[in-house]
Amino acid sequence: VWNNCLVFIKDNIQPQAFKTWFEPIKPVRLTDNALSIQVPSKFFYEWLEEHYVKLLKVALTKELGQNAKLVYVIKMENKYGNSEPFTEKIPSSNRSSMDPQELNVPITSKNPQLKNPFVIPGIRNIKIESQLNPNYNFENFLEGDSNRLARSAGLAVANKPGGTSFNPLLIFGGVGLGKTHLAHAIGVEIKDKYPEKTVLYISAEKFTQQYIESVKKNTRNDFIHFYQLIDTLIIDDVQFLSGKSGTQDVFFHIFNHLHQNGKQVILTSDKAPVDMQDIEQRLLSRFKWGLSAELQSPDYETRVSILKNKLYRDGVEMPEEIIDHVAKNIKTNIRELEGAIISLIAQSSFNKKEVTLELAQQVVEKFVKNTKREVSIDYIQKVVSDYFEMDVATLQSKTRKRHIVQARQLAMFFAKKYTKASLASIGSQIGKRDHATVLHACKTVDNLAETDKQFRKYLEDLNKKFT
Ligand code: ADP
Ligand code: MG
Repeated sequence: VWNNCLVFIKDNIQPQAFKTWFEPIKPVRLTDNALSIQVPSKFFYEWLEEHYVKLLKVALTKELGQNAKLVYVIKMENKYGNSEPFTEKIPSSNRSSMDPQELNVPITSKNPQLKNPFVIPGIRNIKIESQLNPNYNFENFLEGDSNRLARSAGLAVANKPGGTSFNPLLIFGGVGLGKTHLAHAIGVEIKDKYPEKTVLYISAEKFTQQYIESVKKNTRNDFIHFYQLIDTLIIDDVQFLSGKSGTQDVFFHIFNHLHQNGKQVILTSDKAPVDMQDIEQRLLSRFKWGLSAELQSPDYETRVSILKNKLYRDGVEMPEEIIDHVAKNIKTNIRELEGAIISLIAQSSFNKKEVTLELAQQVVEKFVKNTKREVSIDYIQKVVSDYFEMDVATLQSKTRKRHIVQARQLAMFFAKKYTKASLASIGSQIGKRDHATVLHACKTVDNLAETDKQFRKYLEDLNKKFT
């Protein structure tokens, strides 16, 4: 169908224009009377719509009849694909050298039909690829005490996107606990239930890159516009936005627009909102509008079932005692739990022999060693106190003597930097302070490090002790 359309189009426009605007198009799907075509960028789509819509209509109607529909698919980059979102494949020099008149659809007298173009309903359908990984679904996101709240909130959102009070839904928790998996699962489920809804998964990092790019190319409005078209927006790892005020600002606007229009926003973060640093207050307060659900470290039973499920799906059998050994020893990170079991499977198939407990012990030990590097808050307090030649009790005391205050603030700063503890938990362990005090301490350390040479020396000396 598309080839026939092309033949017709080629006949009706300048060769250069054909090459620029029609050759890059890829037909992707044909259902009944709807043809989906993939275009390299949003800009490309807009250009087509603006300049060639009549021509496309006619070509398509000739092929598919009066009810013909055209659906645009904008190709975006992600982990599973490889083209760039918002990339204008046409070099700008090329663009400016073209005379817009020349590019306008020539409704030539050659073809009498064209003088009276039809209106094809639905021609403005625009389709955005979701960037969802179908392997991350609810079915293989095993339930346990550690994730029950987040999982069921996710299911509720998937059943009624934008229609629950969980908007935004913020999923937070440490590394490897399933945030990305759950975020995809919600999107996959929504797509399944509501195929007509536009869902987009994007990491905050990618979102930031796109935004910066759009500012450079003077297409900031297009960027905002694009995101406002989405029904369910999933942004992974929003802590990445900390300190990036431009991106936060644009996200704030997009968020408000979506929220006001009953669209669903799903966010993940490695921290609870109260512990997020350098995120604007107005954005944090938006995060709190909905529900924050934590993913905690899985308990032993959940770890066992995750392992068994993984083995089952890979069609691998493994003795109970080995599963038990892995589950008992890798506690805080599901990614590592899976990593250990994958490594065991690999070794057993490589050596063509059963996994022995001994081998399991070796593998597990390696994984555990890698993660045990985290220092404790007690250790940090001890090191900082020693460095300033005071005891830990003094460091924790209520005194406002300058050098003691600085030592305390440094301890808080390093606890924040080198442990996974929340601000609240750091505060309570360092002399029973609240999270705001810890936050203040971290900022003070940052400031002093820039302005006070002596202080910077303390910071650097101590930092060496922890790395
Ligand atoms: P995060 O984004 O929090 O760092 P991921 O979502 O990448 O974590 O999860 C790490 C790995 O653990 C993934 O392979 C994921 O499929 C798996 N995983 C996490 N939670 C579960 C769960 N509840 N059931 C099964 N697998 C899980
Ligand atoms: Mg993740």
